[in-house]
Amino acid sequence: MKLLAALAVLVIPAVAPAQTDSISQLVARLDLERYKATIKSLTQFGDRRQGTDRNRAAVDWIEAQLRSYGCSNVARLKYDYQPPPPNPGARQNRDTTRASGGGRYRGLRARTGVNTDSLKQPDARVRALDAQPTTPGAREEVYCTKVGGGHPNEMYIVGGHMDGHGWAEAANDDGSGTALVMELARIFSAPDVHTDRSIRFVLWNNEETGLNGARAYVEQRQALQGKEDPPGSGQYPEPTWLGMIQHDMMLWDHGMPRADGTVSPEQRPEADVNIEFQSSAKFSAQAQQLAWVFEAANEKYATDYPASVGSHMTNTDSAPFQDVVAAISLRENERGTQIGAGWDPNWHQPTDLYTTYNDKDFRLGLNAAQTTLAAVAGLVGATIK
Ligand SMILES: [Zn+2]
Repeated sequence: MKLLAALAVLVIPAVAPAQTDSISQLVARLDLERYKATIKSLTQFGDRRQGTDRNRAAVDWIEAQLRSYGCSNVARLKYDYQPPPPNPGARQNRDTTRASGGGRYRGLRARTGVNTDSLKQPDARVRALDAQPTTPGAREEVYCTKVGGGHPNEMYIVGGHMDGHGWAEAANDDGSGTALVMELARIFSAPDVHTDRSIRFVLWNNEETGLNGARAYVEQRQALQGKEDPPGSGQYPEPTWLGMIQHDMMLWDHGMPRADGTVSPEQRPEADVNIEFQSSAKFSAQAQQLAWVFEAANEKYATDYPASVGSHMTNTDSAPFQDVVAAISLRENERGTQIGAGWDPNWHQPTDLYTTYNDKDFRLGLNAAQTTLAAVAGLVGATIK
């Protein structure tokens, strides 16, 4: 009971029976073929590496899609990215017995890393697409907002990162999370959908270089929260943050690597959506409570795959938010103990191509979309008119 009292800070509205019906209808508007088509479209820009023409073209394309969905107040956050000088000692000095995020490795582990060799990409078309190198300098990332009718001054942030690397198509990392966020932006922006609170959909840039796009957002916009601008206008350019939900690698849960380092080619029947909060964060208690709201939404609305909650959220765009607001991530596997132990052999590799995945993989991503859509719909009081 003591634990519950400590968690009471985050106000989770009860979902009324009439709203449950609206949530079911909204979840039914998600569609596997549409989700796949959005991922496929993102792969036309190759790996969308930050600081390249293909990355900028992808930001333009995403913006055009958000506008076509009718998502409001489409805007760009601008920042400057200068890569830090190389520091080869940092990796050598890392304790490799502990997973990043604080978890414990169990069982078999396989090698992980980032492919930087163009010749490891056997497809000449993809190699050509990814050929332009990155240059430091000005960066942009796009977001849009579903404005709440009752409390436009408060919002949940739903994010995924649109940049990738590794000489492939960044189909899973993070085309799968980007497409999920875009599909939710489309569904919530439909003219017959009403929400009491606001939702912001953000497609972060520069995640792969150290969460720089999300960090820039927190730096530039944290102090603007809840301010009406212009005064008396009823407009809130930065509604107060109620929670941040990140999506990063949604498709692949084929289990632990085998002793020879290979991974099963099939989605495991026990595949799940991993919802993580960070137990060392300032807002850990609130984030944990938010994670369980998502787990409950999965129980009720996700069609195929269950969800698991873990306490070691790490290495994604929710991290810059975790000491400011309740922040969670959704993934195919736990980032630290599983992806970090080689459970996803396509991670940052030339095999992260659209054609690598089948419907069982895409369906895991769709179930994550169902989970977030249902949870956020409940949190913002969504109804269909
Ligand atoms: Zn990622």
